[in-house]
Amino acid sequence: MQDHQNKIINFEYAPSIESIDIVNIQPKNKLFIDGKFVEPTSKKYFASINPATGETLAQIADANAKDVDLAVKAARKAYTKTWSKLSGKERGRYLFRIARMIQERARELAVLETLDNGKPIKESRDIDIPLVAAHFFYYAGWADKLDYAVPGKEIKSLGVVGQIIPWNFPLLMAAWKIAPALACGNTVVLKPAETTSLSCLLLAQIFQDAGLPDGVVNIVTGAGETGAAIVNHPDINKIAFTGSTDVGRIIQKAVAHTDKKLTLELGGKSAHIIYEDAAIEQAVEGVINGIYFNQGHVCCAGSRLLLEESIAEMFVGKLKSRMEKLRVGNPLDKNTDIGAINSAGEYGKIKKLIESGIAEGGEYFEPSIQIPTKGYFQKPCFFNKVSSAFSLSRVEVFGPVLTISTFRTAQEAIMKANDTQYGLAAGVWSEKGSKIHKTAAALKAGVIWANTYNKFDPSSPFGGFNESGFGREGGRHGLFPYLSIK
Ligand code: NAP
Ligand code: MG
Repeated sequence: MQDHQNKIINFEYAPSIESIDIVNIQPKNKLFIDGKFVEPTSKKYFASINPATGETLAQIADANAKDVDLAVKAARKAYTKTWSKLSGKERGRYLFRIARMIQERARELAVLETLDNGKPIKESRDIDIPLVAAHFFYYAGWADKLDYAVPGKEIKSLGVVGQIIPWNFPLLMAAWKIAPALACGNTVVLKPAETTSLSCLLLAQIFQDAGLPDGVVNIVTGAGETGAAIVNHPDINKIAFTGSTDVGRIIQKAVAHTDKKLTLELGGKSAHIIYEDAAIEQAVEGVINGIYFNQGHVCCAGSRLLLEESIAEMFVGKLKSRMEKLRVGNPLDKNTDIGAINSAGEYGKIKKLIESGIAEGGEYFEPSIQIPTKGYFQKPCFFNKVSSAFSLSRVEVFGPVLTISTFRTAQEAIMKANDTQYGLAAGVWSEKGSKIHKTAAALKAGVIWANTYNKFDPSSPFGGFNESGFGREGGRHGLFPYLSIK
């Protein structure tokens, strides 16, 4: 900013910390089975930490195969006795009620999500939680209209579905899974990720308060073994998994010889293409949002930037100066752009990958901004002028790390964008609609954004190709994996 004497005024932000008084975290958090909070049979608990401080927030119950079996039995009973007997309209009423209660408790859910996950409060408050409510509203609307979703076909619910979700959007991933499953008439056993169970357990309280019949949704907390117990349980009709491609492979093998239905939402290495005729300032902002939103812990993150050669130098210069203004720090501060990396394990993995990129000779840049010394914080960064063979152009970092390469023609951009084993998302920036359509049609990705990035809406299907998995979540297509269609 400049004042009337042309002196530069440094526009500093004063901290604006969201109060945590609204959340009441229980020291010990039990399993949610058959409508009640119950002790795990092992009596074992593990800690969930706040990654911004490293402090323990609460103890979480560790569910073993016995607990999973109890949850599946409760879900089966609820399916047979109540949920499958209700009309679509009645199921919809429960879902509408849950959606409204999520809105009423939105601030509490946002603060809890930020404490447990490390994401900035402005994101949990303005993006995650509103989308959670929107998802329940959207599928509540479908519950009594399923016949119109698949006209001329005979449709039926599947039964009990097992759902396993990751830690990057804990409550949003739970909503993506639970809302369509219930709308279609199924009952649920869901496992949140080990590091982020708290918001799902608060959602379980909302289910209780909404009067959702016992056993319709069961939440079993724990690590990978708990997930495996769900996958291998013989009385589950469908598995819905969101997480890494490696675990996706294990799950696909495990259900291959059964008649369980399966959907996999896995990793990505999405390309973000900027043509020279794009609105440059907006595109810079789009690239920042594409890769640094949610610390880069986004399956569809625009982690490979492809710049038309004629604008590359100018664009990279603008990107660098924008990155010097990003605020990395306390996730509870309403000014924070980039919060904490979710866990020590993830932090170590990201650091190692950055070091390997530097050792490989990538042209590394990170801004000179300050970051906290306590907690797990990582500066946003990029590797410029890399080839498609550069290791970080291929491996999903799942952190705030971008790679940048250039292209001369649209064909080259498309070829480079498609040069990946994944196929989750892509972004295209150009002033010309025809160019965007032509490029988008040639890209092998489930979601393609034009002149924007990371826009989500419950009515829009989401999912991947190749090693990004199969099946769609969101929209009318998001109903199909939860129905038997004949
Ligand atoms: P992950 O390690 O695969 O874990 C995902 C979930 O699976 C967690 O709840 C995990 O439990 C559980 N799990 C681990 N091993 C298991 C096993 N053998 N059987 C059954 N469940 C098991 O992935 P993550 O590191 O949490 O998440 C990051 C990955 O998710 C990234 O690759 C990202 O791209 C992907 N993702 C994809 C989408 C999408 O829609 N395509 C969305 C978000 C994230 P614990 O965590 O408790 O060990
Ligand atoms: Mg945590």
